[in-house]
Amino acid sequence: MDKIDSENLLVVGAGLGGLATAIAAAERGFRVTILEAADRVGGAAAYSAGVVWSPANHVMLREGVHDSMENAATFIKATAGRYPELLDDSAMYRFLTMSPRAVEYFENLGVVQWKIIPAMPDSHAGAPGWSEYGRYLSAVFDADLLGDWRDKLRYTPHFPYETNYWEIHEKTGKTPAALTPSSDGGKVEPPTRELSETDRPINLLGFGTGVVANFLHATSRRNEITIRLEHRVEALIIEDERVAGVVVDTSAGRETFRGKVVLATSGFDSDPALVKRFTGLGEQDYGTMAPRTNRGDGFRLAASAGADLVQFPARSAPYIPGYFSGKANAFLGREEYTYPHTFIVNCRGERFCDDSYYGDLAWQALAPDAQHFPIYMIWDEEHHRRYGGVGADPGGDYEEGLVESATTMKELGTKLGIDGVQLERTAAEFNGPAATAADPRFGRGSDPYVQRFYGDPTHELHPNIAPVATPPYFGMRLRLNMVSISMSGVRTDPDGHVLDISGKPIPHLYAVGAVAAFTATGTSYQGGFSLSRALTMALTVAECASRE
Ligand SMILES: Cc1cc2nc3c(=O)[nH]c(=O)nc-3n(C[C@H](O)[C@H](O)[C@H](O)COP(=O)(O)OP(=O)(O)OC[C@H]3O[C@@H](n4cnc5c(N)ncnc54)[C@H](O)[C@@H]3O)c2cc1C
Repeated sequence: MDKIDSENLLVVGAGLGGLATAIAAAERGFRVTILEAADRVGGAAAYSAGVVWSPANHVMLREGVHDSMENAATFIKATAGRYPELLDDSAMYRFLTMSPRAVEYFENLGVVQWKIIPAMPDSHAGAPGWSEYGRYLSAVFDADLLGDWRDKLRYTPHFPYETNYWEIHEKTGKTPAALTPSSDGGKVEPPTRELSETDRPINLLGFGTGVVANFLHATSRRNEITIRLEHRVEALIIEDERVAGVVVDTSAGRETFRGKVVLATSGFDSDPALVKRFTGLGEQDYGTMAPRTNRGDGFRLAASAGADLVQFPARSAPYIPGYFSGKANAFLGREEYTYPHTFIVNCRGERFCDDSYYGDLAWQALAPDAQHFPIYMIWDEEHHRRYGGVGADPGGDYEEGLVESATTMKELGTKLGIDGVQLERTAAEFNGPAATAADPRFGRGSDPYVQRFYGDPTHELHPNIAPVATPPYFGMRLRLNMVSISMSGVRTDPDGHVLDISGKPIPHLYAVGAVAAFTATGTSYQGGFSLSRALTMALTVAECASRE
């Protein structure tokens, strides 16, 4: 690679990781080209809840909230306990040191102004090192400042991006939980108060769309950075055992770009073969709430250069239970399974987990040797009347073709293709204790985080548990929707170099964000790790690439 080429940085993917890398690299003298497969900027980050987990961050310190890296390390170790071998201590300490540095760095550059999300604690309440307030940051952005790029930004179909955490909290006293999409009839309502232009820019964007808009704005204003949309990278150019550029597929044909390469291509959600390989899930049992261009290209590109891929247990990744809506032409994540008057069963009509908590649902459903799929949500008329869902307002008509109903559990089981007698037995076993808001076998509704953020806080019995006893009964096959956090990924060292199968860095190939295996946090996952990692790795890789 000659000198000119080595001053070029090619960033593959314009999600949060890609945009942040471009900014940090331009600051260090690189000419940066961002190559994005889609016709819009933002990736899964723009579709996300926009929650960034950063312990001991500068905003906490500014507000006088105490936290430390040691606390955060204790927390990650305590919650990653089940697969300690997958937690790389040195990567974890690097992440914890760099994360507060990275969020402050982008704020000091004038890219973004972070604020603490009100009333949002870490999950795993009470775990050692747990923090009640301050580690969760997010940001808003005035869309008017984007100019022509406004039409090139992805807008999330999963969250009410025209409002934000602070407005919702001010109006309702509640904070929507991270990773709780609420797109078709959910309970988070935008504020109704009139806001004049002087109070608030009319087009203030929140959630992941707002966070990404800050970084798109900063990127689009720098001459050293070029963004090429509809440029899907197809192959790496490898010369003299080092990566020297990429080959791109465009509508005008194949083009080559030369320079050091940063993969910021995210997860493999839309590639059924990679999903099968890394999670075992069949096509009818999963979906994705991320853009369809997240199809594992980074895994294949890295592997073509000899990279090692790390396999995490499929059950350690976050999934949102949901379904495919033909009406929306999208996989939608649901919250209704967290409400009272419902439970979830496996293919034998048996319950198998705390079915109010998506973490336990996936953990049990994907346990090695378990045979639970297909899985079904079962509910009753009381749930239908109170909450609606699946395209229906409370008491209304469900989206066609998705929901079965029957006057008895036995008949419902037959319609769903599961053992109706067993389903009847399961309902009876559930309903006894549920009448006093208890679930001694599986602990439905026992997690304080689930109680606080999910379900129906106004229910007379419990936010998450009540009998399923009022006919007609309803049932729907559920999918585990992926969110571009597969945990598995390309193996990197703490500097973000992609490593080959012997553990050596592949020269001039780096990885940022969800394409890289989550070795810094192990199997401990909670909302906000992924975006924090994307920002952290962006700064780390920019620093590293500028030294090499
Ligand atoms: C509904 C939802 C809610 C979420 N909420 C949160 C949250 O609150 N906090 C959190 O931390 N995480 C959250 N996540 C996960 C998070 O959004 C992703 O893990 C994160 O965006 C990954 O960032 P990234 O920069 O690596 O990739 P992305 O933001 O996904 O961007 C990757 C980009 O690469 C592009 N690309 C892919 N292949 C190619 C190719 N061959 N050539 C060119 N471009 C390519 C894609 O089109 C895409 O634009 C959520 C995800 C979803 C779907």
